[in-house]
Amino acid sequence: EPHIGVLALQGDVREHVVALEECGARASPVRRPGELSTVDGIVIPGGESTTMSRLLEAFDLLEPLRGHLTEGMPAYGSCAGMILLAGKVLDGRPDQHQLGALDMIVRRNAFGRQVDSFEEDLDVTGVGGGPMHAVFIRAPWVESVEPAVEVLARVPETPAAGRAAGRIVAVRQGSVLATAFHPELTGDRRMHELFVGMVGAR
Ligand code: GLN
Repeated sequence: EPHIGVLALQGDVREHVVALEECGARASPVRRPGELSTVDGIVIPGGESTTMSRLLEAFDLLEPLRGHLTEGMPAYGSCAGMILLAGKVLDGRPDQHQLGALDMIVRRNAFGRQVDSFEEDLDVTGVGGGPMHAVFIRAPWVESVEPAVEVLARVPETPAAGRAAGRIVAVRQGSVLATAFHPELTGDRRMHELFVGMVGAR
């Protein structure tokens, strides 16, 4: 069974651990560089990307994590995790660190200040079994991607979606997966199943 770490500096760590275990992986929180070396893949949870960025530096995890990602460690980021994995962030804090594992630009808090949360059913490429109910909480969206990034889902073009209509909200680049929404909060395990499969295949 693959052993997957969940970056446990801040955010909804427990929910990801439970989701991964339900998908047949062994899951452990990661707070130290040494723990990072013991896992086959890493999840970066939802939370607050600016806080996680600061803690990554304070816990001496920023460079080790970048190193493992460069060497091909599979990673999955939800929401704040997606922001951290991106190469560039718009509306971020100027001193916020990027892991740069996804060749794309994300916009932080993109759904608007008034819009704390937003829910929508999405068709996700490569995920069978019908639409996925997606929950967005002060979520980013992907502003643009380089050709190496595969778009897995967009917000459907419905009137309710407003400015978010058509925006990219799930991506994959090689062994790195990211969603602007939080499957760890809905009980739909298909995104985690996909990631556990990616880690197992490597
Ligand atoms: N707005 C948060 C950030 O900037 C992300 C919110 C979330 O992860 N639910 O990191």
